[in-house]
Amino acid sequence: MSVSAVAADRSVCAPLPVLGRDVLVPLVTGGEVDYAALDYAASAPALQRVWDDVAAYAPYYGSVHRGAGYLSQLSTDLFENSRATIAKFLGCGRREGDQVVFTRSTTDSLNLLAAVLPQNTRVFVFETEHHASLLPWEQRPDTAVTYLNAPRTPQQAVDTLEKALAEREPYGPALVCVTGASNVTGELWPVRELAAAAHAHGARIVLDAAQLAPHHPIDIAELDVDWVAFSGHKLYAPFGAGVLAGRADWLQAAEPYLAGGGASRKVSRRTDGGVDVEWHTTAARHEAGSPNVIGAYAIASACQALTEAGFDGLVAREQELIARVREGLAEVPEVKVLSLFGDDAPRVGVLSFVVEGWNSSHFAAALSAEYGIGVRDGLFCAHPLVRTLLGSEPQEPGECGAPEAAPGERSLNAIRVSFGAGTPDEHVERFVRAVKELVADGARWNYRTEDGRCVPDTSA
Ligand code: PLP
Repeated sequence: MSVSAVAADRSVCAPLPVLGRDVLVPLVTGGEVDYAALDYAASAPALQRVWDDVAAYAPYYGSVHRGAGYLSQLSTDLFENSRATIAKFLGCGRREGDQVVFTRSTTDSLNLLAAVLPQNTRVFVFETEHHASLLPWEQRPDTAVTYLNAPRTPQQAVDTLEKALAEREPYGPALVCVTGASNVTGELWPVRELAAAAHAHGARIVLDAAQLAPHHPIDIAELDVDWVAFSGHKLYAPFGAGVLAGRADWLQAAEPYLAGGGASRKVSRRTDGGVDVEWHTTAARHEAGSPNVIGAYAIASACQALTEAGFDGLVAREQELIARVREGLAEVPEVKVLSLFGDDAPRVGVLSFVVEGWNSSHFAAALSAEYGIGVRDGLFCAHPLVRTLLGSEPQEPGECGAPEAAPGERSLNAIRVSFGAGTPDEHVERFVRAVKELVADGARWNYRTEDGRCVPDTSA
């Protein structure tokens, strides 16, 4: 969609108030500038509304589930009401037997699902996934994992999955894991079609919605996915909670993810000296330990805030920002935007690119030090995908990045810019201007490598 087409659409809504919008950061060249947070895909700033809701609740904070006091009961209600709000946000209520389990993050949610898979489950996962959805499945020796090659169109994704499922039949329980929106390219995956393919072959499907949930409404029943996983900190609710929502049967048939209080209903000593445990059969089965009531409430508050703001307007505004960034970058021949599905693919506000002749870490450091813009560089915890897109050879795996070349040397990594509901126009305008200036004029400062990263050289 072009900028003008979006501008004509009066449903575009204003940026939502977020924390940190007035924070000033120093520039290495002198002076200060308000920080342009363009790393939403890693962690989005907190919505002001979420912060206010949490602050309003904080004096009433109390222990959840086990306390007899007034504030404990209030906190327990808040915790369970948060679960209900999130269930509604995800459309869970429309399907019998769905559950919302609170976790720490998307990574935790997918590891929980991996832990409760029935014996001898076959898992199908694209190599393009974030490591959080690529890696949890091999931990159980009885789980067989099929890694699918990167598709170059959404239809190819469906065909690849169809073929892989058909070739391996018959199998017992099977699970497909797919991302809703790529954390590297921002491109949307054909979730509904992949779910239909999975179900046609008797497999279930889990949606990694870490990057989708902050940008798009999700309806678990309408998409017909069996589970959805996402993180609060990417959904403007940075209080250490995440969600795994969906079918209860596999969750309830398995041993608890963590053994402990909260997950156990009754514990007694056996005559042989051992211990018998009766585990809960609700979401609590996988929520052992004291629950993160503030994290859960913050996610519910964010769900409410996004719903009230209206996803139509939020999406329209984000598409406008995407168009501005893409049109701006397209004017710089040295910039190559990474894409799996091509220019016309529907996408969220996440874009990765490389700049000819620049080391990505050097470029990202200059955006920060000279323009006050926070982006990310590296392989974005999706090493196979970024290497496929860059066409580069595997290198020593780093945790969330990789060894860097010295400033000025060509890099094997990319730069990612990402934004969302709180991003003002000025931040993306500054970003586009900065890219153009850096490419045309070079950095205005010297940089050196420190602990594998480029940093401004302030030693002179
Ligand atoms: N899935 C995707 C697509 C992501 O982008 C991320 C984080 O960047 C994750 C999963 C993991 O999320 P978390 O680090 O919150 O567990």
